[in-house]
Amino acid sequence: MTALRRTKIVATLGPATDDLEVLEKLFYAGIDVVRLNFSHGKAQDHIDRAKKIRAMAKKTGRRVGILADLQGPKIRISRFANDKIWLNEGQYFALDINLGEEEGDHEQVGITYEPLSREVKKGGRLLLDDGRIVLEVDKVEKGRVSCTVIVGGQLSNNKGINLLGGGLSAAALTDKDKEDIKTIAKIKADFVAISFPRSAKDMHEARELLNAAGCCDVSLVAKMERAEAMEVMDEIILASDVIMVARGDLGVEIGDANLPAAQKRLIKRARQLNRAVITATQMMESMIENAIPTRAEVFDVANAVVDGTDAIMLSAETAMGNYPVQTIEAVSRVCLETEKQSSVRVSKHRVDMQFDRVDLAIAMGAMYMANHMDTQGIISLTQSGSAPLWMSRISSSLPIFAFSNKEATLGKVTLYRGVIPVYLELKFSDQAALNQAALKTLKDLKYAQVGDTYILTEGDLNAGAGGTNALKVFSVKEDEKKKA
Ligand code: PGA
Ligand code: MN
Repeated sequence: MTALRRTKIVATLGPATDDLEVLEKLFYAGIDVVRLNFSHGKAQDHIDRAKKIRAMAKKTGRRVGILADLQGPKIRISRFANDKIWLNEGQYFALDINLGEEEGDHEQVGITYEPLSREVKKGGRLLLDDGRIVLEVDKVEKGRVSCTVIVGGQLSNNKGINLLGGGLSAAALTDKDKEDIKTIAKIKADFVAISFPRSAKDMHEARELLNAAGCCDVSLVAKMERAEAMEVMDEIILASDVIMVARGDLGVEIGDANLPAAQKRLIKRARQLNRAVITATQMMESMIENAIPTRAEVFDVANAVVDGTDAIMLSAETAMGNYPVQTIEAVSRVCLETEKQSSVRVSKHRVDMQFDRVDLAIAMGAMYMANHMDTQGIISLTQSGSAPLWMSRISSSLPIFAFSNKEATLGKVTLYRGVIPVYLELKFSDQAALNQAALKTLKDLKYAQVGDTYILTEGDLNAGAGGTNALKVFSVKEDEKKKA
């Protein structure tokens, strides 16, 4: 079997991927999950894109998960009478709640986030447009925040605002998000990303809203992009199914120099707590304009793989770049080569751990065996997707095939490192026939060959989720008919 890439690729959809020919090429280049970015576009755009993805998955036979990313409380300035201004270092500039939507000029601009004037203090620093513009607060009165420009430059309509060090209180779910959740329920997304959560409470609230909208199977993604979220990392990770290292906003809040250490901590902690993790933003930024990545980008992707990320995410590179297909090809080849390094293939195992669940112990046992025997892979017959998630938290070079008859489960596992979703109808009345059908499916899909050894985990027939209680070893044989 040729090497399978273990690290997954999340591609943001946008105008650059709407062309069906481009989309088909992206599927063949190896996208695993697509991201619908609810910060841009109308509900109908997202519904149309999700439909195209489902149709393309059928056409190409490649299962691709759908991640809906809510906009959240991104705080923005209003608009300028002339669309943009130039700010000089040292000049006066004010953000004012009392100004109208289009009344900005070179000395002031409106803002719709009413609490701002209560939440900033003299000496605080506001970062605009992903940190390109820096303002220092001089005075706050009656909804007007007067500042001195520390780093100047061009400033245009609706740019985002962050407070250095964090602390803006905006609730994680806005009215727009609540509206968008209804659209997401229609789309039946596999993942929903919550932007700017501050605590586990924000994630629980999101979960309740999603449940109420009928999205009960959806995996919840916490975007780690606030300074204060880093302080309660564990509780947010545990309240979520997946986290995203959202390097764009996080870098603005904690300072760019603190990002590498934050990324490593987040990935390590997510894996330890049995959650999946996506590394996002500017992974291949220069490929928006160029057909090949910079050396620094190659190293960035490779380092995220070494850190143990489940997935690499692309944003504008695929949504509106000139080279979406080449971007996916570049990420894919860098991941594949990096995965050959022994440091990411060998596990330090959880040797000191006590397992309080049989299914977790079986999953860990399977990985220990797989990594210490001559085997070609692991087969996990799964209802909920938990066993393949746990397995994929252990470093290995072997593929984990997640077999399920549940679409929602197969959708989830598209994101997990080293896990390949495979549909299998569970119509069997005895376990032996089921096991043989799984092996035959792997052979038919050309993943397995005669003579290969596979480790298989499963529960009793009809045991339901959490029932994994058996580990077996099979060698792949010729089909019965062929032998005769
Ligand atoms: P965004 O989130 O692209 O929605 O801003 C990712 C990030 O902040 O890095
Ligand atoms: Mn963000």
